[in-house]
Amino acid sequence: MKSKLSWQLVRSYEVTSEAFEPHCALLFLITLHWVADVWKIFLFSRQLLLASSTLTVPPKLRERMSSQDYDFARRQSLVSSTATISSATILLLVKTFKLYYGYHFYIWEFTVTQAETKFWRAIFYAVFDMLFSKLIALPFKLLAALMYSNASQMPLAAITIVSVVQIIVATIFTATMIACFMMVIGYFGPRILLYFTPLSNTIAMVLMAIYIQYFVPQRYSTLENEPSVHDSIKRLTTSVGYPSDKVYVNPDFNAAPNAYFIGVLGANMIMISRSLINMLGPQQLTAVVAHELGHWSKDHNIIHLALSVLEVSTVSIGVAYSYDSETLVKIFGFGKDKPQAIITLYMWIAYVSPLISDFLNGVRSVIGRLCEFYADDFACNVGLGSDLKAALLLLASKSTAYPIFDPLFSAWYLGHPTIFERVDRIENH
Ligand SMILES: [Zn+2]
Repeated sequence: MKSKLSWQLVRSYEVTSEAFEPHCALLFLITLHWVADVWKIFLFSRQLLLASSTLTVPPKLRERMSSQDYDFARRQSLVSSTATISSATILLLVKTFKLYYGYHFYIWEFTVTQAETKFWRAIFYAVFDMLFSKLIALPFKLLAALMYSNASQMPLAAITIVSVVQIIVATIFTATMIACFMMVIGYFGPRILLYFTPLSNTIAMVLMAIYIQYFVPQRYSTLENEPSVHDSIKRLTTSVGYPSDKVYVNPDFNAAPNAYFIGVLGANMIMISRSLINMLGPQQLTAVVAHELGHWSKDHNIIHLALSVLEVSTVSIGVAYSYDSETLVKIFGFGKDKPQAIITLYMWIAYVSPLISDFLNGVRSVIGRLCEFYADDFACNVGLGSDLKAALLLLASKSTAYPIFDPLFSAWYLGHPTIFERVDRIENH
């Protein structure tokens, strides 16, 4: 009864009013895409301007980073920001063209010449749409490769072959997924759409908790085998009430220098990579662990869980609502030749889901940034602020990534404050 109610609730949002103007709704959707993409282009342009105007190593990194390393990372950052801005601009224009000029209607009409049943027409629809969308972007991708390539990279012919193979694989994958979805929905009924995402996410979370609780202790060593840092980290974990045997070392020498905390359904772990232990002194490493303990102590995993629940709910309601939606048929201008029920879900995933996930990712990133500040504050409160600052600057100088980020860009995309924002805050603590 309850499941019937929630399904009917989601499906009750079909717009049946006579006053409903599908074309206005379409223009509104196009406007939302412009807002989202112009925001993205604006943020990447800020990052591009910052990297192009900061020609020398910033003072705080001067003693730790050579000007050659800095310049190499700066040029890489310029290339990647320019490529993102160009592709976002082209994709926005393509999207606008497709939506405004009824491209999807024409593709659907075209499939009638290819297949008789709506099942096969839906598969052909996905194939044509994928091929058209990817092929139209291919010349720009090749142009970007030509502009930014250097002698060490692949020749253009090889990039072209790889790109074409990628397009074929992506098309086959999408067509297969559409076929599988139609068969699964045909077998279980469309209600599966409402429950699939929450169910699969819950299973993934339970498996993760089991992995942390039972497999991580078997696979990774603890601090017992790290005499240089064992005592100082154990003193710290004991003082804040975190079990020291839940701090593990990833022995892989090739893993990036990193430390992170994961807490799922009461199972906790802090993982430190071998390369981080080799890079930092004992006090600096203890300060990094103090930062991770900050995430644990402030229950940041609960904040991330709440955000995941929000995300899963929007995905699940979105797919359940969009399947076979009359409203979407009208908005996307399919006309009298009503497409197979999966096609409106396909359109939702192509044009509505990305807007929601871009927004939620931005919110997640801004909240993640606050969590990083709070975790740094925790390290300062246990008296390890200056060691954390030294560790952060050392990590930034050893990384091959460009170390400077525009604060707004960083807040929306990286989920981390910039190194200099963190260092300033630690200095003022
Ligand atoms: Zn952190």
